[in-house]
Amino acid sequence: MRLTLDDHAAFRQEARAWLAENVPADRAPVDGPASRDFALAWVSRCHQGGWAGLGWPEAYGGRGLPPENIVIWYEEYVRARAPSVLDPTFVALNHAGPTLIALGTEAQKAHHLPLILEGKVLWCQGFSEPGAGSDLASLTTRGEVRGDEIIVTGQKIWTSFADIAEYQELLIRTEPGTSRHKGLSWVICDMRAPGITIRPIRNMAGAAHFAEVFYDEVRIPLSNVVGEVNDGWRVAMSTLGFERKTAAIGTQLDLSVKVEDLIAMAEAAPGSAMAERLADLRAEAAGLRAMTYRTLFRDAATPFDGSLMRLTFAELAQRVAACAMDMLGPEALIDGPWTHDYLEAYSETIAGGTAEIQRNIIAERILGLPRE
Ligand SMILES: Cc1cc2nc3c(=O)[nH]c(=O)nc-3n(C[C@H](O)[C@H](O)[C@H](O)COP(=O)(O)OP(=O)(O)OC[C@H]3O[C@@H](n4cnc5c(N)ncnc54)[C@H](O)[C@@H]3O)c2cc1C
Repeated sequence: MRLTLDDHAAFRQEARAWLAENVPADRAPVDGPASRDFALAWVSRCHQGGWAGLGWPEAYGGRGLPPENIVIWYEEYVRARAPSVLDPTFVALNHAGPTLIALGTEAQKAHHLPLILEGKVLWCQGFSEPGAGSDLASLTTRGEVRGDEIIVTGQKIWTSFADIAEYQELLIRTEPGTSRHKGLSWVICDMRAPGITIRPIRNMAGAAHFAEVFYDEVRIPLSNVVGEVNDGWRVAMSTLGFERKTAAIGTQLDLSVKVEDLIAMAEAAPGSAMAERLADLRAEAAGLRAMTYRTLFRDAATPFDGSLMRLTFAELAQRVAACAMDMLGPEALIDGPWTHDYLEAYSETIAGGTAEIQRNIIAERILGLPRE
């Protein structure tokens, strides 16, 4: 059934009223157990209010809503200044959950999906390795199938929230002698299993939200494989595809709110010579929003459109943060939300595929230029 404009207005009103009552007043802690407690409490509250898993099928505890409603939800979400969607629950709600719904067994879904939606567990993503980032297919972490178990040995790096997560979507090489995309498996790894060592890495913003993870003969039941053994590349591509869907809209809309905050700051301090720069940022944020809506609702959208959005967002986020620093002047030296954002924004053109890789994809897959 197609929803009418009146249905959308009513939904928006419902979302706005609930958010006004429920958004936490405190700023989310940036790392460690406090960030875990804060994020899980927020998901649990959303779930109790009927606002978790909006796009998930009803059979798995969601509301089965179409993308229009999810866009409206995120528009209201950022307007209410609700916690960032890129918090420790991001992987569980936006990667792992959707991957299990699409490709998991009924037993995997029955166990994990309620825990995720009710805000009881966190997940992290173990894809990147010291020698396999942009070129993910060169990963070497080994999984040896022995009876009804896989024994995992190797290392991952840059695993966000590894130290506070219960589960990991782990990509390993299970077929000896294979290379590149063949012979990989996507497995559910219990982060408390014996043989796992987690070493947090502190970034230049002072936060330790990602980590190195070492695996020394970690035993994972074969029943934790999602999809088929040795078919992990297909599952991983499905996981990465979810990242570029509706979840991305939350972070992109949030950027528009930041630009409006900067404009309000400039209005409160007349005489600052920022008008032209702020006008450009507002126009760029509007352009990004338009591009995202078009990608979400265009039948012919391809996974490569995600690269356009990702690149535009990442570079704009850095320009917005740099503008805030210039407006703050010497005050920027005092650690505050804008300064933290500015330092964190450096990673925007690395995480989720670097700017150079996105440009390669746009050049080759969208513009049809020769492959490098
Ligand atoms: C904040 C943050 C959070 C992250 N969280 C996670 C996570 O939770 N789980 C996870 O698995 N990973 C995570 N990552 C890792 C991220 O996916 C990788 O950093 C990213 O894919 C780049 O890989 P790399 O760091 O190995 O860099 P490399 O691939 O080694 O790249 C180094 C440089 O070479 C350039 N380069 C590489 N190949 C090419 C090419 N073909 N053409 C042109 N230039 C090229 C890159 O653009 C880059 O400038 C995170 C990263 C960050 C910054």
